[in-house]
Amino acid sequence: MKPFIYADNAATTQLDTAVFESMVPWLTDEYGNASQQYAFARAPKKAIAEARSTIAACINALPEEIYFTSGGTESDNWAIKGSVFFDEERKEIITSRIEHHAILNACEAVKRLGYPVLYLEPDTEGVIHPETLRQIITNQTRLTSIMLANNEVGSIQPIMKLCVIAHEHGSLFHTDAVQVVGHMPIDVREVDVDLLSASAHKFNGPKGVGFLYIRKGTNIGAFNDGGAQENGLRAGTENVAGIVGMAKALKDNCEQIEKYQHKMIALEKIFIKTIKEAGLDFIRNGSDNHLPGSVNLSFRNSNGELLLHRLDLMGIAISTGSACDSVNTQVSHVIQAIKVPEEYARGTIRVSFGKYNSEEDAEAIGRALVKILK
Ligand code: PLP
Repeated sequence: MKPFIYADNAATTQLDTAVFESMVPWLTDEYGNASQQYAFARAPKKAIAEARSTIAACINALPEEIYFTSGGTESDNWAIKGSVFFDEERKEIITSRIEHHAILNACEAVKRLGYPVLYLEPDTEGVIHPETLRQIITNQTRLTSIMLANNEVGSIQPIMKLCVIAHEHGSLFHTDAVQVVGHMPIDVREVDVDLLSASAHKFNGPKGVGFLYIRKGTNIGAFNDGGAQENGLRAGTENVAGIVGMAKALKDNCEQIEKYQHKMIALEKIFIKTIKEAGLDFIRNGSDNHLPGSVNLSFRNSNGELLLHRLDLMGIAISTGSACDSVNTQVSHVIQAIKVPEEYARGTIRVSFGKYNSEEDAEAIGRALVKILK
């Protein structure tokens, strides 16, 4: 069999075996609907409550501040639409040019309904500077939404400073932390955000489940109307197996977070060293303060798609940027926004390591790239 190296962990991650095993009983024997009154509903109801507490503890939230969703896209849509549709006075949203399309397209949708949206530009390292927010925020701003780390170039944003400015102007602050939860420590009390999005499949949990942290007392409307689930704010029979699996994956990853971060940095170094030593002409995109394991490179006079396909033939899975952009052959909106020079921009790829990658993988990807580009 052809060797296979998976290095697209920013797109999705491998489900942990222990996580899968924790989910099975809720799909087979304990299939009761947690909203029912009889004894058979008690175990799933308890499992959901325990998962909520486990997840809350991982980010220093209260259990009642965790709302289960179908993933990052839904959490982001809820944060945007739930904030602006339920405030009569303030209508404006501020976000950045480098957000995931779950934010950008949700913002465009509310813009079409008459809600003004303003966009902050990043610097060339993909960082949103607090002064740029200070220049445009007003007392009409209902929500400021800036991601915690960028999914393409990995740059970590100065969330605490941005959040202070938003609050000074009475704006809610949301952060899309989909790439960060389970990979770097997060304390919602310390960063002081009102809303935070996360998705289980980015931290070795199952696909199709995530959560939105909603700080207690935050005025936000329901996402789904229907039953009374999720405190009446997100109706729909709960995905018990998914929720249990997400809690297990997050707890397990958070217990290993420091070890994981060191490993990611070591893999990055091996990979970069291999291509540097071969004298390839490339730019590493993003800031020094970045998501561990996320490496975005632009090779001069090259073509990212071609590199992706050549690596694919060699049994290596990486991406050209955002997974959601995979049908789009244009230079990604992030690479455009950070102004990567034209002769490099088209040759952009993203290698994102995960906990199942080895040092051999990192070196092999580097060597494969050298072979293709030389
Ligand atoms: N936000 C960011 C930053 C992401 O990277 C992603 C997924 O790529 C999402 C949101 C969407 O998450 P999901 O795939 O769970 O809908």
